[in-house]
Amino acid sequence: MAIVILRNDGLVDVWKAALNAQAPDIPVYGSGEDIPRSDIKMAAVWKHPPGSLKSYPNLQGIQGLGAGVDFIFDDAEIRKDLPIMRVVDPYLASDMAEFVLALTTGMLKRIQDYKYNESLSLWKPKTYQRFKEVTVGIMGLGKLGLAVAESLKSVGFSVVGWTRNSVPEVNFPVFRGGGERINFLNRSQVLVCLLPLTPETRGILNRDVFNALPSGARLINVARGPLLVDGELLNALDQGMLAEACLDVFHAEPLPADHPFWKHPAVHITPHIASVSDPKSVAPQIISNYRRLLRGESPENLVSRNAGY
Ligand code: NDP
Repeated sequence: MAIVILRNDGLVDVWKAALNAQAPDIPVYGSGEDIPRSDIKMAAVWKHPPGSLKSYPNLQGIQGLGAGVDFIFDDAEIRKDLPIMRVVDPYLASDMAEFVLALTTGMLKRIQDYKYNESLSLWKPKTYQRFKEVTVGIMGLGKLGLAVAESLKSVGFSVVGWTRNSVPEVNFPVFRGGGERINFLNRSQVLVCLLPLTPETRGILNRDVFNALPSGARLINVARGPLLVDGELLNALDQGMLAEACLDVFHAEPLPADHPFWKHPAVHITPHIASVSDPKSVAPQIISNYRRLLRGESPENLVSRNAGY
């Protein structure tokens, strides 16, 4: 009985080491090793090759190695009866909160603009905004969105949030579903996207959303690339509807060298590093889920196949 780790980025050793250190009794294999396939009970995956899980006949569960599991649902060949688990981790939430705070404050104080002007040797003072005068709208108030909201509020921003149907207990306005979306967007001077990628949310960051934001609003997408319609963002920026955008995630990663985002002065790019799963911190929940699966118990942090997150 064992775990197999399958990752598209080759970062297997660090995960193996974390699992071995905390549960020396559990055999852990990585792709490239001689894997006893029928022993594998759990696959721990990050963008595994689609179809590759078919070769483990006794699999009892799929453990995603990040918060988002869209890449697992994209694999049409996974067995429909297998439970799918995701990572819920305090560092994942606090790292995301720190990152979004840094981007938001940087944009309002024009730091990214000055960095660009520096590359042109251009001395050009710009106006800036005070935090208490700005409302940040957070699309998706899950584990990460709520942490982001808390950190933004702690430095003086007003916050509004949007969910599918939950009503989290928070001390700021929350809007729900398609019917309330426009009221949420109308207030969002900075729009932070922390939605999961599902059939409902794909392409949601589009012209209609940009139109509904206050003029000169800013966008931060730290969720998934396919939530955004790239061309419609570029049009919105070029027409002055939006002032700038910080993008951490893209349709194709790495972002192709010829993508227009690279050269656009109002687009700020980071390479999908907003918040990265920490193997040492995440290992206990993987081990716990593995043991639960073996005992026939329900694992933790299950995702809903119906909702897609
Ligand atoms: P959660 O599942 O905890 O929360 C998702 C939130 O999105 C919920 O509030 C949910 O509403 C809302 N939501 C889902 N679908 C819709 C919809 N159709 N309309 C409106 N709201 C919707 O996710 P996390 O907070 O843990 O993570 C969010 C995403 O962040 C991940 O899916 C992943 O893609 C991304 N991520 C990016 C990272 C990076 O480094 N860039 C790192 C980690 C995660 P409700 O409350 O009603 O269910």
